Amino acid sequence: TKWAYSFSEGEAEGSAAMAELLGGKGAGLAEMARLGLPVPPGFTLTTKVCDWFYANDGALPPDLGTQLEAALAQIGRVAGHSFDDPEWPLLVSVRSGARVSMPGMMDTVLNLGLNDKTVGALARKCGDERFALDCYRRFIEMYSSVVLGVEHHEFEEALDAYKEPRGVALDAELGAADWRAVVALYQQIVAERAATDFPQDPRAQLMGAIKAVFSSWMNPRAVKYRELHNIPGDWGTAVNVQAMVFGNMDDESATGVAFTRNPSTGVRELYGEFLANAQGEDVVAGLRNPQPLTETARLAAKCSGLSLEAAMPGVFARLCDYARRLEAHYRDMQDIEFTVERGALWMLQTRSGKRTAPAALKIAVDMADEGLISRADALNRIDPASLDQLLHPTIDPEAKRAILTSGLPASPGAAFGEIVFDTREAVQLAGEGRKIILVRMETSPEDIAGMHAAEGILTARGGMTSHAAVVARGMGKPCVTGAAGLRVDYEEQCFTVLGKRFVRGDRITIDGSTGHVIAGAVKMQRPELTGEFAVLMGWADATRRLKIRANAETPADARLARKFGAEGIGLARTEHMFFEGERILAVREMILADDAEGRRAALAKLLPMQREDFKDLFEIMAGQPVTIRLLDPPLHEFLPHNDAEISSVAAAMGADPAKLRKRAQELSEFNPMLGFRGVRLAVTFPEIVAMQARAIFEAAIMAAMETGKPAHIEIMVPLVFTRAELDFVKNCVEATARAVEEETGVKPGYQIGAMIELPRAALRAGDICGTAEFLSFGTNDLTQTALGISRDDAGAFLGPYTARGILPADPFVTIDQEGVGELVALGCARARKARTDVALGVCGEHGGDPASIAFFDRIGVDYVSCSPFRVPIARLAAAQAAL
Ligand code: ADP
Ligand code: MG
Ligand code: MG
Repeated sequence: TKWAYSFSEGEAEGSAAMAELLGGKGAGLAEMARLGLPVPPGFTLTTKVCDWFYANDGALPPDLGTQLEAALAQIGRVAGHSFDDPEWPLLVSVRSGARVSMPGMMDTVLNLGLNDKTVGALARKCGDERFALDCYRRFIEMYSSVVLGVEHHEFEEALDAYKEPRGVALDAELGAADWRAVVALYQQIVAERAATDFPQDPRAQLMGAIKAVFSSWMNPRAVKYRELHNIPGDWGTAVNVQAMVFGNMDDESATGVAFTRNPSTGVRELYGEFLANAQGEDVVAGLRNPQPLTETARLAAKCSGLSLEAAMPGVFARLCDYARRLEAHYRDMQDIEFTVERGALWMLQTRSGKRTAPAALKIAVDMADEGLISRADALNRIDPASLDQLLHPTIDPEAKRAILTSGLPASPGAAFGEIVFDTREAVQLAGEGRKIILVRMETSPEDIAGMHAAEGILTARGGMTSHAAVVARGMGKPCVTGAAGLRVDYEEQCFTVLGKRFVRGDRITIDGSTGHVIAGAVKMQRPELTGEFAVLMGWADATRRLKIRANAETPADARLARKFGAEGIGLARTEHMFFEGERILAVREMILADDAEGRRAALAKLLPMQREDFKDLFEIMAGQPVTIRLLDPPLHEFLPHNDAEISSVAAAMGADPAKLRKRAQELSEFNPMLGFRGVRLAVTFPEIVAMQARAIFEAAIMAAMETGKPAHIEIMVPLVFTRAELDFVKNCVEATARAVEEETGVKPGYQIGAMIELPRAALRAGDICGTAEFLSFGTNDLTQTALGISRDDAGAFLGPYTARGILPADPFVTIDQEGVGELVALGCARARKARTDVALGVCGEHGGDPASIAFFDRIGVDYVSCSPFRVPIARLAAAQAAL
């Protein structure tokens, strides 16, 4: 077996394609070497050696020794010296390198090869004894802590103890003699703590370091990191051994990091920092402040020192050239490590750079425009979910934040405002133009108005699919749920967290993208929907087959939906309109009326309000389809809950409160989700259908007169399980249409369809399509009814299901393809067979989930409908599905 792969400027046995075998760092070093970039010579021991190491109780393959010697000899040939060179000893770094970058892994050991003899040779070669001794004491410290298990602080304390009596504050004040003394002290510490002398033989040092890298694969930090990032434990790590170059040799030397484009904005510029006269780890250690690379960046940051561009113009020019070549080669933004030794530039690492969501977008679009990648590549490079960050105000990443506690990042974006604990007060204060954060133990349907009025929502309880989370995402409101240690006291109108007390009116910021709860205000950034965002969305629209609609019922949501590119409204939930203001009173009158006449009187009050709502929607959507779902609340959501509410309804109706209370009790249900809702309401109270149909038709006529565009009406009947229900409702709608035609002389045009959210309806889709002209799969309810799981109660047990791998994902977030998805696919196929021109849609949370969208695209759904804020995500996900 080949265990070691050599590389040096101009040639390499490995390549970028071998990341699995060589790890990310090794593959990058090999590729740079192949490209002819100046890479210090070295070799990579493969991940296979790591496998062998673990399969054989921490031993190394017997034939590794000869390969190691050959690889070391190869370094020697290129570098011109070796470990045993009495005049110029070879020093190497030993670097770990998994397939993906893993911060939990072993620290790199630099300057390996130094010992009591070679340190003198190095000093003579460089003409600098202090430098050589400083390297040596760094090496002892690093090696002993990573390989011999002596703790860092032992050395730090010894150094402090040495400096103190001598009145020395800074390391820089120590001379060669001091460092020689410190080296002796360090060796004594090793002898005591590690019960062995510090190894003097470079080969023994090397073997120790190699084994330590392999062992670090299983250290608790690394194991935990893999667990958090879903990295398989059997991947193993590679080890890179590489000739040292010295950024700390003199003032013509330096070390630094460069990104080929700005990782926070995406701007095409060399971005990064460097330290003159320093070794790699000094940049990270933060003892000295690194300087910007470019003059522009230095001026912008008002730095007093020199930029690399000004300090070493030749090196800077070469670095720019290499950056360009690497980027062109990898076709992606690179994150580069480099070191300058006496004016010579050396490349030490390259990898795809991490970047913010706005930077990712700009880089993808720019690279496509530059011809570096195709538009399809650009579309595929953006994680649709990350677009969320671009649509909501977010916290300035540079801003300091005083974090009080963390909860779940339930709905992205940041919000700032005064805390309020009560929905009514939230509505009232927001009406006065104040910014509100609604804080609740948890939310319920009655809080919807308050959530709407608030800038953001914070709850002490609840998960990612709790009422607060789902509704907030639907509204595009930032929301943090299940905030740890948050104790809400409604009586006192305050909450406490970690002993701090916040009363009504105190100001906080919540970050729904991270789950942070922050005291006071933090600097925020506004979303930008032009520029690259618009360009990428244009490419997505030209690519996708699926159409994207929005779930919206308020004019504000409808406008937002259009702004985000929705091609119609796929779900307008009329009951949301019923909750607003005094309407709830009229709705309660209607429900509690004992006869059809009483109901008609109440409905007559609602008619003009509904008409107004629909007219707004039709006008805003200007001829695009608007799917209006007939009333579908569980009845109990409308019932009065307390005496005060009962008496106000009673007063409005001129009825006896006691009688009313009795009626309300009669109507209360054991299981409202499976109770009196959806089409069942319409079958029992056809007057409601008649009122809603009339409001729709009259609004459409008015809107058409105003905009000159006929409204595109789709009337959707919820929760049907049989065609006969739909026929019943259709008759009622038709009768209303005829009446409106007689009154106005205008014949209303509309389509009628069914919402498929019960398994029986999916099975009977073909039959239902005898009447329905379109079907929309309500996958939220379909998931509840197919799995027999109530979404509102799932929080308690769904967590373990996904954690233990019983379910691959939360079925309310990503559609359960095998079960619920099968019902949708089957329904679609049966519907198409029965009616070739039937329009098939999906509405509900899944309509905005990229993985679910890919599935819906595959099974031939015509459109998905999601909350306005998810429309851009859906547009991109649909494009990716089509690629
Ligand atoms: P990490 O994965 O933590 O970045 P690296 O292996 O890249 O660890 O090394 C850490 C630091 O040591 C980097 O700044 C790197 O530039 C420096 N370094 C590594 N090898 C060498 C070398 N052969 N010569 C000089 N500096 C080196
Ligand atoms: Mg590195
Ligand atoms: Mg439903």
